[in-house]
Amino acid sequence: MPEGDAVYRTAARLRGALDGQVLTRSDFRVPRHATADLTGRTVLETVSRGKHLLTRVEGGLTVHTHLRMDGSWQIAPAGRRVAGGDQVRLVLANSRWQAVGVRLGMVDLLKTAEESRVVGHLGPDLLGDDWDPAEAVRRLRRTPDATIGEALLDQRNLAGIGTIYRAETLFLRGIWPWRRVGDVEDLEGVVTLARRLLDANKLHAGTVTTGDRRPANQTWVYGRAGRPCRRCGTRISRGEMGAQSQERLILWCGGCQPG
Ligand SMILES: [Zn+2]
Repeated sequence: MPEGDAVYRTAARLRGALDGQVLTRSDFRVPRHATADLTGRTVLETVSRGKHLLTRVEGGLTVHTHLRMDGSWQIAPAGRRVAGGDQVRLVLANSRWQAVGVRLGMVDLLKTAEESRVVGHLGPDLLGDDWDPAEAVRRLRRTPDATIGEALLDQRNLAGIGTIYRAETLFLRGIWPWRRVGDVEDLEGVVTLARRLLDANKLHAGTVTTGDRRPANQTWVYGRAGRPCRRCGTRISRGEMGAQSQERLILWCGGCQPG
């Protein structure tokens, strides 16, 4: 699942292809907006908010998309055939480029003035210019009995973390994922580290939290279930956390992150 850094890069690619250009084609393949037509409007900009994408167009409209589990925006020269078939949910194109949204988990068209309807619930954006660690901590503290692992994925607390950054951040801080938020002493240290990890990865594909870009060495615990911890040698554990039917993967080292 794409996390905040991947969405940030997607926004940058969409800006490069669409900003300042007049749309020559818009094709919404979702029932709700099937008749919408943005042809003739200039795209102003695309910004990311956590894992959400907002593409603002002339006339006070915003296209809101979310990649969810495995969505993507594919960008290609205008007119070229793009793979995706019946998985395509949205096409935005100008005379030079086309952006094709494949398997998008969310496609909305709304007034720019009403963006808060779709992103207003989000906590501070880890990669936003207005990142505010104190506000993220304040929001985390609202649910002292929640596990820190679940609280970090709750985008209402802070926006941009998925399962990879959750696992890596908690490992690096030595925190057992099921510890209560109220029992985590240095929440500011946790959110500041998460921000640093996302920021370090926002300009390139892949997730490197170890500082070592070689494929087998990029993470501490994520993708390493059953392998020895790079710090203490304990086998990395793998489990799931979250409410029933919403469980998400968690990896941790029982030696470095004692319960
Ligand atoms: Zn360890």
